[in-house]
Amino acid sequence: MSGRRPFVAGNWKMHKTASETGGFVRELAISLPESVEVAVCVPFPSLAPAVEAAGGTSLRVFAQNMHQAPQGAFTGEVSAAMLTDLGVDGVLLGHSERRQYFAETDAALAEKLAAADAAGLDVILAVGESEAEREAGETEAVLARQIEGARAADHADRLTIAYEPVWAIGTGRTATPELAEAAHRFLRGLLPSWLGERVRIQYGGSMKPDNAAQLLAQPDIDGGLIGGASLVAEDFLAIVRAAA
Ligand code: PEP
Repeated sequence: MSGRRPFVAGNWKMHKTASETGGFVRELAISLPESVEVAVCVPFPSLAPAVEAAGGTSLRVFAQNMHQAPQGAFTGEVSAAMLTDLGVDGVLLGHSERRQYFAETDAALAEKLAAADAAGLDVILAVGESEAEREAGETEAVLARQIEGARAADHADRLTIAYEPVWAIGTGRTATPELAEAAHRFLRGLLPSWLGERVRIQYGGSMKPDNAAQLLAQPDIDGGLIGGASLVAEDFLAIVRAAA
């Protein structure tokens, strides 16, 4: 790993109720090593209890989505200001499940990135190719298209990229360290050099306690975005320790 501080984030997806959140967050927050930045990306109803439980600790709280408009007639949506008002630290944008099931486009994501940045929210921007795209030799073109909106980012410290090959998410099929490293290196090279050197790129896709160390040992893998294993405190903390 480089001089970049490792960053491990848990993506709870649509798991854990608000009442289940406080105790779980407290359990995580008391055990964090200083050398790793750690966040949980939680469902909207869990944001307030997560912020409260993480208060005074280094654990950071992220939403899993937000709308790009400051306010308006967008039923069911949440703005950047609503997140910052709760004390939320950042937002996960462009997860493949949002791209696939909620028709999230790169154009909308570029607007969301700008709105999050203007509000002072940190962003994890998720990118990654599907199995069909990889087999068709389109991986690099897909990654280049998906990262385009991030190239204009002003604040490298507030932006993290998560490389998540769609075929590895929730499937137990992890990318090999070599394949993941090649994608990370490619992504870093797409960014202006000042940004590419500083931005952290997490790997996501069935990262577990038993494969985390090998992936995290790659020079361009700066942490992980963890789905399933982030729902079990012991497993998530084992991955955090592997990044330390
Ligand atoms: C994710 O949801 O971003 C993810 C990587 O999930 P999993 O770790 O379960 O593959």
